[in-house]
Amino acid sequence: MHTFLTHLECSLCGKTYDADRLWQACPDCGRPLLARYDLDAARQLGRERLIGSEPSLWRYRALLPVRDEAHIVTLGEGFTPLLPARRLGAELGMPRLYIKEESLNPTGSFKARGLAVAVSRARELGVREMVIPSAGNAAGAAAAYAARAGLPLHVFMPRDVPAPFLAECRALGADIALVDGLITDCGREARRLAAEHGWFDLSTLKEPYRLEGKKTMGYELAEQLSWDLPDVIIYPTGGGTGLVGMWKAFEEMAQLGWIGDRRPRMVTVQSTGCAPMVRAFHAGAEFAAPWEAAQTVAAGLRVPAAVGDFLILRALRESGGTAIAVSDEALLEAQKWLGRTEGVFACPEGGATLAALKALLEEGWIDPGERVVLFNTGSGLKYPLL
Ligand SMILES: *Cc1c(COP(=O)(O)O)cnc(C)c1O
Repeated sequence: MHTFLTHLECSLCGKTYDADRLWQACPDCGRPLLARYDLDAARQLGRERLIGSEPSLWRYRALLPVRDEAHIVTLGEGFTPLLPARRLGAELGMPRLYIKEESLNPTGSFKARGLAVAVSRARELGVREMVIPSAGNAAGAAAAYAARAGLPLHVFMPRDVPAPFLAECRALGADIALVDGLITDCGREARRLAAEHGWFDLSTLKEPYRLEGKKTMGYELAEQLSWDLPDVIIYPTGGGTGLVGMWKAFEEMAQLGWIGDRRPRMVTVQSTGCAPMVRAFHAGAEFAAPWEAAQTVAAGLRVPAAVGDFLILRALRESGGTAIAVSDEALLEAQKWLGRTEGVFACPEGGATLAALKALLEEGWIDPGERVVLFNTGSGLKYPLL
């Protein structure tokens, strides 16, 4: 099945660009470029013919950007289980609670989805050398796909990144630089060196295709629930790529005629130590001001500023969703609660979704009878034992 990719479109200013050239963010306004497809033509083919049979995200290849399948760089990412959470659900009085178990991805987190697609497309468009700033999981995933593609990769991580992420990047052959500061400081260093050496920058939403990889979580949820989306999705939000990606997937699937108009209420969870989206959402702001002195054990949530902030906020509002911050104590406690009830050794970010669910049930924002999906975005194994 060939891709229906047609062009790129800026998410803020609407300018369009040739999809078969290399782009980072919009050259005009600096905001993310979105991949667009000929969905009318795809719709004619019908769902059964469009979706492949491989048990990976490449089953949705027709709606992904790689043109020639010879360029696909894969380690079997995606098509992760959607687990009914029966014991946890019983404790909460929720008969229809699910966990999307993303720790089963290559390198142990959902970052594999975005980087499989971004590295595949970068290789297809002739990239020779790449760079990525990361709080940990994105670096590990990028290192794996870069190795498999045979492309050199430079990773920039905060100096206090947990040791297993470092070990992973080393074992996978990446060149590693440690930066005093946060992921935003790593991003600045990465951009500087990318400009100097002509490296391609894999920062999320600074190139168009990590988003495409992560949108497949939306396609999978729909397929795994027989094309009937859940009432609520609770998502631990850093840069927001997964949340924005799923929202894009729902819009595409509606245009393809695969789903109706009903959408899940999207919930962003952050840590009280770094909650720029939560603050902006409740202030009614269109963009989010950077968070000062960000600190949380949930490394994936320690993102003080996101280039896709307005896309996250739009998706939350259009969906009738909300944003909530939980303390590190609460998310770590919830991490253990998930473990002992469901056998899922979640990352702290995954724990945060359960802490948020508990708070939203208590507030009455979620009804126990609703169908709710928690995202466990990665494995607990790479974090310090707390
Ligand atoms: C990166 C990361 C997040 C945040 O993901 P975004 O889509 O960038 O918001 C959440 N959890 C884990 C484990 C991560 O690595």
